[in-house]
Amino acid sequence: MTDAANAGPPPPDVDTSAPEEIAAGVFIIRDRRVPLVPNIGIVLGEESALVVDTGMGPVNGRKVLEAARKLGDGRPLILTLTHFHPEHGFGASAFKNAARITYNKAQHGDLKTKGEAYLGMFRTFGPAVAAALEGTVLVDPDDVYEDANTTIDLGNRKVELRTWGRAHTRGDQVVWLPAERILFTGDLAEERIFPIFPWFPPDDVDIDGARWAAILTEMIGWDPAMVVPGHGDIGSVEILVAVRDYMVDLGARVAAARKAGQDADSIIAELSPKVRAEHPTWSSPEWIDFAIRYYATLS
Ligand SMILES: [Zn+2]
Repeated sequence: MTDAANAGPPPPDVDTSAPEEIAAGVFIIRDRRVPLVPNIGIVLGEESALVVDTGMGPVNGRKVLEAARKLGDGRPLILTLTHFHPEHGFGASAFKNAARITYNKAQHGDLKTKGEAYLGMFRTFGPAVAAALEGTVLVDPDDVYEDANTTIDLGNRKVELRTWGRAHTRGDQVVWLPAERILFTGDLAEERIFPIFPWFPPDDVDIDGARWAAILTEMIGWDPAMVVPGHGDIGSVEILVAVRDYMVDLGARVAAARKAGQDADSIIAELSPKVRAEHPTWSSPEWIDFAIRYYATLS
């Protein structure tokens, strides 16, 4: 292993210098394909502004807050997160008392039961990630919604927050702008990145691959004009199709191999290089093996 590999991933810095307006009043701060940086949204209405995800740690959180204040130009701010994972939500402390923080109930549950453990796990990912997490404080939301969806009216702009229960986590939430047909997916979809299966038994086994694929199929039916994935470049509905097809295909191949008597290790040895080769432009191939181990438990 090289020194660079030992050092872990690069600093997970959110670059807020040039938010990009993808539709009138809808801004994104791109991940620039930097590991552990998410795509972040800032959506303006006439009366308030919604921030979608914060980046990891208080410094990133403060930068995103400043960018939202600048774009929001005095509008009250609302923060929501696509899910509790550190690179998406562990900058939320910067928003405490500066924005109303809104989560769904299952996401809040994930944060309460797993937040500290994930903080500890991510601190082992190398010095740059540990430095970004320095001073992280997990904060409770101001509002928690119990239903499968809720609508926020930002002033002449409605935004729907939707959840289905366990998929990539127990409390995944997408943000949907029905008028503009813009969809923020969180980690239910990445673009040219192998789907992130956080399958970490025995600590975290809260994945439901069947529901996850069904959610993607449902969202494909919404016919989004623009998809902002959790990580990777923004694009069209094709992002959702690619992730859904990958999952359904991999699940079926693992089930067939299990039926033929193979265990997870032997399936990984045989299938993982093939799957990687079939997606030559996708990054983070380490997630293939996590996905295979997950699917292997189903049959
Ligand atoms: Zn995630």
